[in-house]
Amino acid sequence: MVAMSDRGIGLLARIPPLPPFITPEELLADSLPLLDPPSRISVTDAAEQYLKVPVQGNWQDYDRTVAPYTVEPQDMSQSRRFKTVCFVGPSQSGKSQMLLSVSTHAIMCAPSPVQIIHMTKTDADAWVEEKLDPALMNSRFLRDRLGTARDDSTFARKRFKGMRLTIGYPVPNQLSSRSQRMVLLTDYDHMPQKLGPKDSPEGSPHGMALQRIRTFMSRGCVFVESTPAFPVDPEQVWEFDKTAPHRLPPVTNGICKIYNEGTRGRWFWECPNCAELFEPRFDRLVYDETLEPGAAGATAKMQCPDCGHRISHREKARLNTLAALGRGGWLHEARPFDAEGNALVDARGHRLLVRIDDPRIRQTPVASYALNGAAAAFSGWDELVERYETARRAFEVSQDDSDFARVHYTDIGVPYARPDGDEQDLTAAALRETAVELGAMTCPSWTRFITVSVDTNGSWFAVLITAWGLDGKRMALDRFDLVQPPETAPKARDAEGRYRAINPGKYVEDAEVLTDLMERSYAVEGEDWSLKPCVAVVDFNGPTGWSDNAEKFWRRRKREGKGALWFLSIGRGGFKLSDRVWHVSPERGSQGKKARSIKLLNMAVDRLKDTVLAAAARLDHGPGAYLFAASIEKERIEEMLAERRGIDGYSKRPGAGRNETLDLSVQAQAIAEHRGINRLNPDDPPGWAVLGEVNPFATWTGQAAPPPEASEDAAPQYINWLRR
Ligand SMILES: [Zn+2]
Repeated sequence: MVAMSDRGIGLLARIPPLPPFITPEELLADSLPLLDPPSRISVTDAAEQYLKVPVQGNWQDYDRTVAPYTVEPQDMSQSRRFKTVCFVGPSQSGKSQMLLSVSTHAIMCAPSPVQIIHMTKTDADAWVEEKLDPALMNSRFLRDRLGTARDDSTFARKRFKGMRLTIGYPVPNQLSSRSQRMVLLTDYDHMPQKLGPKDSPEGSPHGMALQRIRTFMSRGCVFVESTPAFPVDPEQVWEFDKTAPHRLPPVTNGICKIYNEGTRGRWFWECPNCAELFEPRFDRLVYDETLEPGAAGATAKMQCPDCGHRISHREKARLNTLAALGRGGWLHEARPFDAEGNALVDARGHRLLVRIDDPRIRQTPVASYALNGAAAAFSGWDELVERYETARRAFEVSQDDSDFARVHYTDIGVPYARPDGDEQDLTAAALRETAVELGAMTCPSWTRFITVSVDTNGSWFAVLITAWGLDGKRMALDRFDLVQPPETAPKARDAEGRYRAINPGKYVEDAEVLTDLMERSYAVEGEDWSLKPCVAVVDFNGPTGWSDNAEKFWRRRKREGKGALWFLSIGRGGFKLSDRVWHVSPERGSQGKKARSIKLLNMAVDRLKDTVLAAAARLDHGPGAYLFAASIEKERIEEMLAERRGIDGYSKRPGAGRNETLDLSVQAQAIAEHRGINRLNPDDPPGWAVLGEVNPFATWTGQAAPPPEASEDAAPQYINWLRR
């Protein structure tokens, strides 16, 4: 060990290191942007001067002609007349590019605090990594303004000379802290619309953002953009109102609500034939609806509502550019009366439409814009029509409108209203009237496979046996409850020989009663075959203790080599799930339990209920219809109608009794879809859907036919081989 003997050096070593050398000129240069009055150049000018954007892998100058409809909204963020700028549009419109343009202007021309709020932290981080950081690195002017200290550029904050850009997500402490000159809210409709704890909510993200900009007075602005995601409010009457021709249908929440409070700008084109202005909208596209979706899309043209002239897609970019030059463009609604008290209406009696700088514009602190997907720069009419027609036709078949709704929200950019269907009129009486008489343990002649659904309750298993045809037609054959435990279960009977009630949460052995279900054999009417179930789905949710017992039950089946015949199902609510049925292991155990290694059949129950009820409403016995055997009790059939469809999902009707037949039907639908009912080829079905020896679930019950006579050619073949 070396002893330090020189005290003088020891003292010197305790002096902290000096800060890096900075000249007064450098200090001044850093602070100068703060003293600069906000430059007079617009957001779009600033973006063209300072911002680079990736175009097919190369960094190029920002170009306003790519998405010309974003020019006015992003420039309005600097207007002193509006507190909020709101942009509703489809996903392929380039609307999120406006965040970078507005930020560029704030960094280069109007240094002051700016906050960008994404819908989640994950989205915020991804945006910084994939969009913001590359843009800063490739835009020389922005890079030069970015601080060089280690914490000047993080996921949550970028410190520039004279300003800071914070990036966050919608939680109250991020939206209630420091004052900002601008708050940019992106993907607004995918944010929670009430922030803070349930008992003391602090308001909507938009409302809270407005509080943040107050100290900046008229220079403050909240910029909010999103695709719509809230459905049209069914409680409100919606019809076209000529005093508000640009209003979007009423919604309960989200960006369309903000849009409707604003100036209600819409994007117009000038017709190349008659020079009238009109809004290019999806519902003005004409195409051949009799063709397949892809082919229909290829025929799509935009029809001028005034002269009927049809515009082809290749003219879109040019008409958008012309619109930005004043031949069309954004038109907003005027106020009802001018200063002299004259009604501001056009020749048709509609509310007058004006430019953003017209003093007659609607009096509101919100400049609002709604762009229709038909004018969006990055999506072609062919794909737009193809997606719309594919989703519309799927909806007609399944009555599940999730994809159809999504096309409205993300591709067209408008709020969606479910068309009025027939299922409201469906009654239990109608279902019973069309029920089919069948012999005991018999299934219809068209049956090709049979499924078992099991719902788990505290003291019984509810069971549904369903017969399926190759065209999606299905019939509920049997619907009963299992209430008695198997003989082999612990304490199955008391001293007097009476059975206790089933208790699946407590006794894993009770579930063994389900194994007999797979042995039920149904004679196919008019055929020499009988069928046993080929698959069973058992509810994984149930009374306390059941999930563990269900897992043990399934592992036993797997040890017997029958793991592929048994599924454990779990329901997921809501219409916005992207899939209908998926078979995966749970990612994480609930409440800190360790993850389960078994797979669960996840079911988007609300989407599947749409399909099941639509099938039941098809009383014509055609393809895809859902029928009931006449032997099923009235009360069990009534369970089909125990729930009511709401905006977010199905819920029990007031006063309704049990709903198990509906839940069991959903399980049957889920497993049939998982097995591929929607994909199978009726001319070449898989073995398990054939009345024949290839089907391990089919048994031949007819008379044995005489063995085929041995033919001269067939028999001696191996003898010839022996002789060689
Ligand atoms: Zn025209």
